Amino acid sequence: MMAFEGKIILITGASRGIGAATALLAASRGYHVCVNYVKNEVAANAIVKKIEDIGGKAFAYQADVGDEAQVKEMFRQIDIKLGPVTALVNNAGTLELQSRVEGISNERFLRTLKNNILGTFLCSKEAIARMSTRNGGNGGNIVNVSSIGAKTGSPGEYVDYASSKGAIDSFTVGLSKEVAPEGIRVNAVRPGFIYTDIHESGGEAGRIDRIKSTIPMLRGGNPEEVASAILWLLSDEASYTTGTFIDIAGGR
Ligand code: NAP
Repeated sequence: MMAFEGKIILITGASRGIGAATALLAASRGYHVCVNYVKNEVAANAIVKKIEDIGGKAFAYQADVGDEAQVKEMFRQIDIKLGPVTALVNNAGTLELQSRVEGISNERFLRTLKNNILGTFLCSKEAIARMSTRNGGNGGNIVNVSSIGAKTGSPGEYVDYASSKGAIDSFTVGLSKEVAPEGIRVNAVRPGFIYTDIHESGGEAGRIDRIKSTIPMLRGGNPEEVASAILWLLSDEASYTTGTFIDIAGGR
């Protein structure tokens, strides 16, 4: 059994992809983990099982991060089952079929903002309520999962998604300055071209292999390569780092 160092983490969208890799790495570093998911209970339970198999502690919790009542209840359940969060990874994110802007409906645009930036906002509010020294907390850490698309804008593919990630970048900068005096660090990673299911959601499962010759490192990345950067930002090794970004996109 691993020694528990009092580190409690919520990773949103941890049933698959980057979130799942982050949950496993966090557990191996002694965090007790809430594995959030929205639909895929089987995948979420499989991550919990893997964590338990290495002697860690975790539970799966279904909540749509874009729904305030569900987010509030998730944090309440974490308080009960693990204790108040000391770390939050705002990882849950969605994109839809590749399209030019004229083909994106208003409903889809709002849906993307709701899943990506509203979800990050709602979870951060709940975390700060527990972490901030202003509220009697002991400080904490937030890492937001943005995208290299925040810089490239994803033309012809999903400008709606890229816009939501641009909003996450501004949110990271502003929030980091707001809560820095209260013991909370807020940073972000900007992945790109990572082998996960998300490209299938965009309608092109083989997207990375199609474009990998245009990536300076000539390959896609693995979820574990993003998880390592997230865990570094959460760690004491990054103790003087806030409001910053790590691009993990093979040099793009
Ligand atoms: P993924 O494989 O498609 O997994 C998405 C995860 O988010 C799943 O666990 C899913 O849960 C969960 N999720 C989706 N909507 C949710 C909601 N409303 N509430 C709670 N959970 C929700 O995606 P990924 O590639 O690992 O992406 C993770 C993050 O990295 C996203 O923010 C994405 O934008 C970002 N990113 C990825 C890449 C890349 O190349 N893969 C590049 C840049 C940025 P279910 O399993 O229950 O559906």
